[in-house]
Amino acid sequence: MARTAQQTGPLRLWIDWTACDGRGWCTELLPELLDRDPDGYPIALDPAVGQTRDLTVPAPLTGHARRAADLCPRLALHLRPASPDVGARA
Ligand code: SF4
Repeated sequence: MARTAQQTGPLRLWIDWTACDGRGWCTELLPELLDRDPDGYPIALDPAVGQTRDLTVPAPLTGHARRAADLCPRLALHLRPASPDVGARA
């Protein structure tokens, strides 16, 4: 069963580094958006802001992002609807 809600519309991906084990499985599943920092933790690459742990998922990558979040063994990838108040967390 999918862990992520089947929401429509733009989504934001947030990485919870406190839950992450830093092994980088998600960076292999979603290399279009995620890379690893020097310590192995995933970092999102947003052309608008550079490195971040909270970014809007481009529509063509929504399925890949859902798969990465569903397969994260530590439940450290969160997908949420993109709305002005949701993306405010740093
Ligand atoms: S798959 Fe999950 S636990 Fe593994 S590196 Fe990515 S966010 Fe961290």
